[in-house]
Amino acid sequence: MTTGNTITQSEKLFERSQKFIPGGVNSPVRAFKQVGGTPLFINRAEGAYLFDEDGNKYIDYINSWGPMILGHAHPKVVEAVQRQVKNSLSYGAPTKLELMMAELIVNMVPNIDMVRMVNSGTEACMSAVRLARGYTGKSKIIKFEGHYHGHADLFLKKAGSGMATFNIKVESGITTGTSNDTLIAQYNNIDSVQKIIDEHSEDLAAIILEPVAGNMGCVPPQPGFLQALRALCDKYKMLLIFDEVMTGFRLAKGGAQELLNIKADIVTFGKVIGGGMPVGSFAGSYDIMKNISPLGNVYQAGTLSGNPLAMAAGFTMLSELNEHPENYSELKIKTEKIEKGISAALNKNSIKHTINRVGSMISVHFGEHKITDFTSSAASEIEQFKKFFHHMLSNGIYLPPSAFETWFVSTSIGDEEINKMIDVAGSF
Ligand code: PMP
Repeated sequence: MTTGNTITQSEKLFERSQKFIPGGVNSPVRAFKQVGGTPLFINRAEGAYLFDEDGNKYIDYINSWGPMILGHAHPKVVEAVQRQVKNSLSYGAPTKLELMMAELIVNMVPNIDMVRMVNSGTEACMSAVRLARGYTGKSKIIKFEGHYHGHADLFLKKAGSGMATFNIKVESGITTGTSNDTLIAQYNNIDSVQKIIDEHSEDLAAIILEPVAGNMGCVPPQPGFLQALRALCDKYKMLLIFDEVMTGFRLAKGGAQELLNIKADIVTFGKVIGGGMPVGSFAGSYDIMKNISPLGNVYQAGTLSGNPLAMAAGFTMLSELNEHPENYSELKIKTEKIEKGISAALNKNSIKHTINRVGSMISVHFGEHKITDFTSSAASEIEQFKKFFHHMLSNGIYLPPSAFETWFVSTSIGDEEINKMIDVAGSF
């Protein structure tokens, strides 16, 4: 069922871009380097659909890597931004919108009293670790292989996402001192965490993780794993940091903390809370957050933080989710339908695979074995994924161009789009 699309404009634009932008892209995974071929240059998007510069139409299962929970160009979000834009784009002074946003987030998310806005997920995570270090007076952190917390120096060791996609093993540009402060454990393996604690218990400020991993494909936590981490953090006086940049407001109003019923000490958010604008934030109890400047001595700042346009977009999308929690059951039902449909389609053609799904996060790995951590994810059949990706793309289905990324479903994706996706998977 390969229709193939003409992508002459994308090809031309990509060629020109490579002259002026490293690799032709402003974020590495966009470059299609793992799957090969030319990245599509997007002209516009609406609801469930992306339109490229050649006028081709695709059903979008990336959704800006998560934020477009309600689909593209949601009328209320667009209207809120248009209303705000007339009042200037930035003031560098407090606004009522920031207060409304903070109140809303604190209302929706369990276990937090205060929230500080930043401009990206990277900033949120690096600030969260600084805060944990300031609060505990300790320096080292535990992170998990294949988890991604942004591109700050302290997070790139054994990171997922683009680092895994491009198989980058060296930490070029990062000092040994910084690298030595990040200790790597295996996701879903509590013994690997205990082993690090046995050697470094005096020095450990925090454990940071994606509560549902999304940067090695979607990999759920095994039963009891997060609870065991919580117990270790309490025992050894470390803070538990949940990086909810993907899961926050997507898995439930209160993110993974709510869905999985686990309390973290600090929670980080990213792209989702901007509804597509560049935003991030970190949040925690008053006892922890009072250490942030200007209340305390842990310094953290940002000229554009709490930017009014970004707040207008994010507040409107989060309010919609808050007022209509039925969106979450709808997303779950839709994504279950995708899971079952694709699985049946691949089974029909005797293609060995695993589909992992939590809520509206889903991914397909090819091969015989279950995917429970980075080692099993990396051992999946990448060549088969590449073929699958291009088969889907040439038939109008836009998936992440990497076997190490999660697919995101939006409420705009309906039966028609899901049935088309399953049909196309059936002809792989
Ligand atoms: N944490 C997680 C879990 C992420 O998925 C990402 C980005 N995909 C980040 C942090 C970094 O966010 P940003 O790209 O906005 O810096």
